Amino acid sequence: MRFPWSSADVVDLPGIGTPIDTLTLPTDADGGPGTRLRLLREQGSAFRREFPSTGMPDSVTTCDLITLPYPTRFGLFRASLALAPFLSITNRMLVIRWTESDGTPRVLLFEPSDHELGRYTPYFDNLTQRTPKLVQRQMVREHGTVLGHLASLGIAPDAVDYLMFDHLHTQDLRRWVGTTGYQNDLGAHPKPSFPNAKVIVQRDELAGMAELHPLQRPWYQPATYRDVPPEAFLPIDGSVLLGPGVAVVKTPGHVFGNQSLLVNTSTGIWASSENVIAAEALTPEHSELPGLASWARSWQQEVVLNANTIETTADQYNSIVLEKTLIDHSQRDGRFLQFFPSSELTASWTNPGTAPTFAHRQLTHG
Ligand SMILES: [Zn+2]
Repeated sequence: MRFPWSSADVVDLPGIGTPIDTLTLPTDADGGPGTRLRLLREQGSAFRREFPSTGMPDSVTTCDLITLPYPTRFGLFRASLALAPFLSITNRMLVIRWTESDGTPRVLLFEPSDHELGRYTPYFDNLTQRTPKLVQRQMVREHGTVLGHLASLGIAPDAVDYLMFDHLHTQDLRRWVGTTGYQNDLGAHPKPSFPNAKVIVQRDELAGMAELHPLQRPWYQPATYRDVPPEAFLPIDGSVLLGPGVAVVKTPGHVFGNQSLLVNTSTGIWASSENVIAAEALTPEHSELPGLASWARSWQQEVVLNANTIETTADQYNSIVLEKTLIDHSQRDGRFLQFFPSSELTASWTNPGTAPTFAHRQLTHG
């Protein structure tokens, strides 16, 4: 069976989790984007009250992967006045562990990017070819690999149950879940590093990969999915509860099939996704990044989107407001929310005017 799989291949795959009835995601039938925004705020407030009663995971650990350049006008949309054309973002993996009611331990890796292969994403491949090696060395910093971090945490790869990404931009999963045949570019038939892990993904993102829109093409590596077995995926439709205090919330916009991680911890509720690149993008009125507060005020917008794709801009705005409604304020600085950007804005001397006012850097629990 080869990619693109028929819709039946994807439709028949078993899903996972308990659907969250409160978060149904308003559709066009409910009204325009403004109406849907109001409905999402109401749904978010209702689920926020329910979610803590589901419990907490055993632990959440943060692992730094890589710091990369990213265009300022994507990361901070039209709000930044920084002259630097690039800012820096740091990709991090979250390791979430919980125990099922029957005692089964579970391990979920959120954003376990294989960044050695992610660099062949058309956009980044193109950028690499145009950027002198010296500049790359200044701007790209590798902190660790997925397998290296797991080894130091004492987690065996075969103990990993789930891999999950907010969306599949840049992701090449072949070394993680294996392929059905020899891969010319890898010079190997990769054995899965995570033989027992399944990839939790929104069914519509998986279906969309089969025939990308021109706006989507710079960001995906569809050819790398050709020999990934469909059984490697656990497709879901919408928002589901995965375990105690661990949920996936459907947050379309950045891509159609976008999803966010929601975790209840000892410091309250956190969300993580790539919908914005800094916690201050959710409360730009408190941002000292040049331009952000005044832009938000003059345009009457309460969030600043990470806008590299803008597949559906109003939906992304609405999804960020939903995330904002679901989470708690930071105990370190109450002006900012417990939103953990999976690609977080990181200060660098190479990019004046882009140092964040506040950065989480890690999400730790248990
Ligand atoms: Zn993306």
